[in-house]
Amino acid sequence: MSVSLHGIGVSRGIAIGSVHVLDRSLPELAEYHIPETGVTAEIDRLRGALDQARQQLRAIRDRIPEDTRADIAAFIDTHLLMLEDTALTSAPAELIRTRHINAEWALKQQRDELVAVFERMDDPYLRTRRDDVVHVVDRILRILMAQEEHAPPTDALEHAVVVADDLSPADTALLYHQGLAALVTESGAPLSHTAIMARSLRIPAVVGVRGATRYLRQGETAIVDGEAGVVVAGPDAGIVAHYRARAREQEAYYTGLLRLRHAPAITRDGETVALRANVELPEDVHALDAVGPDGIGLYRTEYLFMNRRSEPDEEEQFAAYRAVVEASGGKPVTIRSLDLGADKAQAAPGAGRPRTNPALGLRGLRLCLQEPNLFLPQLRAILRASAFGPVRLMLPMVSNLEEIRQTRAMLERARQELEAAGHRYDPRLPVGAMIEIPAAAVCAAAFARELDFLSIGTNDLIQYTLAIDRVDEDVNYLYDPLHPAVLKLIRSTVEAADRAGIAVAMCGEMAGDRRYTRLLLGLGLRDLSMHPSALLEVKEEVNRTDVAAIRELARRVMDCGHIEEVHALNERINETG
Ligand code: PEP
Ligand code: MG
Repeated sequence: MSVSLHGIGVSRGIAIGSVHVLDRSLPELAEYHIPETGVTAEIDRLRGALDQARQQLRAIRDRIPEDTRADIAAFIDTHLLMLEDTALTSAPAELIRTRHINAEWALKQQRDELVAVFERMDDPYLRTRRDDVVHVVDRILRILMAQEEHAPPTDALEHAVVVADDLSPADTALLYHQGLAALVTESGAPLSHTAIMARSLRIPAVVGVRGATRYLRQGETAIVDGEAGVVVAGPDAGIVAHYRARAREQEAYYTGLLRLRHAPAITRDGETVALRANVELPEDVHALDAVGPDGIGLYRTEYLFMNRRSEPDEEEQFAAYRAVVEASGGKPVTIRSLDLGADKAQAAPGAGRPRTNPALGLRGLRLCLQEPNLFLPQLRAILRASAFGPVRLMLPMVSNLEEIRQTRAMLERARQELEAAGHRYDPRLPVGAMIEIPAAAVCAAAFARELDFLSIGTNDLIQYTLAIDRVDEDVNYLYDPLHPAVLKLIRSTVEAADRAGIAVAMCGEMAGDRRYTRLLLGLGLRDLSMHPSALLEVKEEVNRTDVAAIRELARRVMDCGHIEEVHALNERINETG
């Protein structure tokens, strides 16, 4: 009999393989007393384990294929950095010294304390840091308890569906080497590192499958549908045949989409649509050739500042921005100024004081305006990059006009400094803002008068409009881009930009989801920026849409008060010939 388990599909693709359950659980940790004479030896034991953990991680990092995205190695570097942090080196040693407890117990105490700190934060990036702390400490504990490094024999994982409670980025990299077919984990969220890595490495993955390690049996056949978020265990021949056929169809579909790489995105009734890419790291631009975007609609510069101890200086930033501009071959690059939270800049565990509500705190532009030493070098670097190709500056988390005026004053200062130093830049650098705070959407007309372009960030706009933490599993079911309130804000922003005669785009996840492409066209958007892997699908949808035919249905969405009505209308829009 077959059993279906449901979770969150975080990396699409269908895989069929035999289940390999990785038992990652640690034996019960015991506390025991260390006599004064044994303290030094116990601290040495801890240091030895830290050393071994470093060696293990370096060995894994060295085996990552060179053609994988740079952030894969960066995840492992983050763990290596944590192993250098005093929170994991000195603090547990101090506990051994002062409380005369064993190294395992000292580490456990320290881990619990750090996890509690991270759990009080509700910033998406910091949430994933909580998992990092657990992964790193568990690795050290396994070494202390002389547990085997859990890598099963290589051939055991070839084409296997690996099922685990949780997987660290290092585990995922190792498993990838061993040729696994798919990943299923009990914990995890779409923004977790495991999920991001699975997408980058194109491993079908479903996370958040409660009970997976208990219900799925070693060696049985399982099917993983990474798009639907479903795992089917013990399928009969008919189900296997069905999924094999779907896997073949999907493969053929994605291969077929490549034909659209050089085709323009233009609706059946002749409306041209700009489809751009969101990038996180300068290295990401090399993957863009495969999809041929109309430039970069969102370059998230904060990634340059993460997972490191000191901030990149102006020269390093300039080199990174210039590389992206030059690789974009004359197509516009929208560089977003830093969208860090106060604590987000610090990757090390235990750093930064916890905030009650970081998503509503000193984040994005607010932080930059308070820290000219952070903001000015970035503005200078962006301006300098603008001498090498078309650049647009985009400001995140704007909530009032004063912030824009202050930014313009800073920009003027940056220009003067560059002129004094004899640097070139584009004197007409367009300045725009993300519309991602409801207040900015409601007052979009006023913003449009002061700016050269707007770009709607639906990830945060939905979070703030619906009061739903975008990474909180408990309320994720309420996170819906089709909520009428969200759509009204999108529509009024587009109208405000049109009236002011400035460009308006969308760069949140909604822009890369083909289920919403037609509706967004109907709401007047003609510029969408998304994860590159979604671009050709969205282009296909654009090319088969007749905007005139769906305009009336899209207008009726504006009269809806109920999410269900919008869903029904959206289906009709998508079914319109
Ligand atoms: C958004 O909020 O929609 C957005 C694109 O920005 P980020 O996801 O980086 O917050
Ligand atoms: Mg945002």
